[in-house]
Amino acid sequence: MKIIRSINGLQRWRRNQISRQVVIGFVPTMGAFHPGHQSLMQRARRSCQIVVVSIFVNPLQFGPTEDLDEYPRPLESDIALCRKEGVDVVFIPSRKELYPSDFQTSVKVSHLANRWEGAKRSTHFQGVTTVVTKLLNLVTPHQAYFGQKDYQQFCIIKQMARDLNQGTRIVMCPTVREADGLALSSRNGYLSSFARRRAPLLYQALRDGSRVIRDGEKSISKIEKVMCAHVQNDSKIKIDYLNVCDSETLLPSQDVRKTVVLLGAIRLGKVRLLDNLLVKVPA
Ligand code: AMP
Repeated sequence: MKIIRSINGLQRWRRNQISRQVVIGFVPTMGAFHPGHQSLMQRARRSCQIVVVSIFVNPLQFGPTEDLDEYPRPLESDIALCRKEGVDVVFIPSRKELYPSDFQTSVKVSHLANRWEGAKRSTHFQGVTTVVTKLLNLVTPHQAYFGQKDYQQFCIIKQMARDLNQGTRIVMCPTVREADGLALSSRNGYLSSFARRRAPLLYQALRDGSRVIRDGEKSISKIEKVMCAHVQNDSKIKIDYLNVCDSETLLPSQDVRKTVVLLGAIRLGKVRLLDNLLVKVPA
């Protein structure tokens, strides 16, 4: 496994792959690996001859009051896990090289990025799309793998790749969960034991929403009421949003048709939890 820390090194490596005509799969991450990240690596490993993983805690996607400095960075164990998963290249660029002091360009997706997480974290998605564009430009993979866990992020990156003809197929991989349903996240470690016990409520709320839809409920307000009832019962939880949305535009659904996505974000003390479920609506 190659560990490449410079942009020059990565570009040199990439040029050498051109004549080999190999299919390159790419998994961009911020490190602090858990089985969710691992599942993306495994999916890439199954479909591609070469797997590249990047590890970069991207400052552009953190707001001024967010946890950039505290974000976990267990680099040695992350590298060991890449090795275990048969990754070919780990790219660990430096902040200085990716964003030199005169850096002044950004990539912004409009409608999709303005709602939900975008409304709560105004610069977040612009940071994500900017860094992902830079990484796609450098790695130029055939496929790039993203988790459904961050469904809005996946939709935005897919839109961006299409709008900018980036030439990479954007692939979504299923959310990996704890046994009690909590979606794995590098930030789950911030949960107190009290909050950890309550955290699965978000998934339970989404499951309840999904169940009533599959049972034939067509009223959006009734479905959302069912989801919120689950969470509102607990005074320590604040709902940021818990909505039935169109699975492509992410606009609030007007009626329940084809596939909808249930998007949820709650705050449990200082920790924000995100989750979602795609639901196929019975005809
Ligand atoms: P991050 O390191 O948080 O930027 O995440 C890197 C990638 O892992 C993103 O595509 C995430 O959506 C994905 N990911 C994070 N958590 C999970 C999970 N529980 N299941 C599947 N994918 C995940």
